[in-house]
Amino acid sequence: MLDCAWFETDKTFIDGEWVKPLSGVRIDIENPSDGEIIGEIACGSKADIDCAVDAAKASMAGEWGCMPADERGRILLAISRSVERRLKELARLESIDVGKPLRQSMADAVALARYMEFYGGAADKISGQTLPFKHGYTVYTLREPHGVTAHIIPWNYPMQIIGRSIGAALAAGNACVLKPSEEACLTALAFADIAREAGLPHGALNVVPGLGEDAGAALAAHPSVSHISFTGSLDAGRKIQSMAAENVVPVTLELGGKSPQILFADADLDAALPFLVGAGIQNAGQTCSASSRILVEDSLFGEVLEKMACRYAELAAGPALRDLDLGPLISRRQRDVVDSYIRLGGDLEIAAKGKIAPGSPERGHYVEPTLFAETRPDHVLAQEEIFGPIQNLIPFRDEDEAVAIANGTGYGLVAGIWTRDGARQMRLARKIEAGQVYINNYGAGGGIELPFGGIGKSGHGREKGFEALYGFTRLKTVAACHV
Ligand code: NAD
Repeated sequence: MLDCAWFETDKTFIDGEWVKPLSGVRIDIENPSDGEIIGEIACGSKADIDCAVDAAKASMAGEWGCMPADERGRILLAISRSVERRLKELARLESIDVGKPLRQSMADAVALARYMEFYGGAADKISGQTLPFKHGYTVYTLREPHGVTAHIIPWNYPMQIIGRSIGAALAAGNACVLKPSEEACLTALAFADIAREAGLPHGALNVVPGLGEDAGAALAAHPSVSHISFTGSLDAGRKIQSMAAENVVPVTLELGGKSPQILFADADLDAALPFLVGAGIQNAGQTCSASSRILVEDSLFGEVLEKMACRYAELAAGPALRDLDLGPLISRRQRDVVDSYIRLGGDLEIAAKGKIAPGSPERGHYVEPTLFAETRPDHVLAQEEIFGPIQNLIPFRDEDEAVAIANGTGYGLVAGIWTRDGARQMRLARKIEAGQVYINNYGAGGGIELPFGGIGKSGHGREKGFEALYGFTRLKTVAACHV
């Protein structure tokens, strides 16, 4: 069983207190590495969400809402330092809960601390403008918080998404209600405790675990919520956007992707290789910005296939705490989805597979990482987000064809371009339809300072960096006539 003496896993966190879910219902926590049930979380419902939103609203009218920006910033910096003191514990929790290899969980915990540091430092640097206008007027803009903000997040990167979403919202002076995924809540609850200890006033952050269609929908539809930040699947995103429309509130949607890496014949293949494979298998492929499509210029195709296949043959999936190349998938359901896609690729040649490490528990949700050889761009495996350790190689003839394939899925989250030709780098950076484009790298190391988000089916709105801060404010124009 789980040993988490420092916070309460089976309660909601509302108004600075651990509270039993009003329904009394709990959800099992499964360790995806071995299928064991290791504890319970609260299954919050509409009634719990109502309490959390009330607490958030009260905090905006109280200490938190009146707090000067520099003090808010200092609290976020204190949270950052507390997260740093607990990196190992947080990483272990995330590995047990999500199945991530330990070093990935550690990177996520470090990112959480860094988000709090970045947004802590930025809190007192959010300002409006004075605007030139007619004689006799002074005109300026104010950036004000929205008020109560809803944060509905998935299971694949809880700590990173809490960092970018809650960090930016608090820095801008909002109160938050966080609905973590029913499949991974532990670090969200741990974070709430850390924030309280670090001095965050009661009600500024509330956490209600629960099911999406129940607690999640109640939060998104709540009339006192003034902004919704959603990260998750396209289907749920569509529903959330309709709920936001009903209440006429802004919504940020961070959805999935089918992100390409495009390799031209002049690319530095040795530099590219770790990114080609790494961006497909990180977090067992359960990454919104996973690079699931590898587009390769014809003349380089054979060499890339051979080198990636060699790397795949060495990959091993196993229990998160053994810290191998990959952990398990989050759940049996997710493994079934991935298995069904592998079957849909039955008409394709498999270039190579990794292995499940000997000794991995039978009841863990492991799949062998799989690299498919030449794949048509319109094949279902090259069109749909799979969310598993699967990559497809797609050959192309020339630049125009590469761009057409890269832009041909309706998604547009991120893309990588590998070429030494400077003019081509600049041309493609403009032609590729994605929220982030990387040239001769992939992912920019997670870059918390860099605005991130999608276009098309990958969503809209930007998180990370200063853009996120602006998104968590509403702009007011004041026009004072003094003649
Ligand atoms: P999901 O959409 O099933 O769930 C995400 C969250 O939404 C969970 O908290 C869930 O409880 C809640 N939810 C589900 N249905 C809801 C509803 N009807 N109303 C309100 N809330 C609801 O997604 P998932 O399976 O947890 O996560 C995987 C997806 O997230 C993938 O598609 C992935 O690409 C995406 N993702 C995107 C980013 C990004 O930054 N773009 C980052 C991580 C994950």
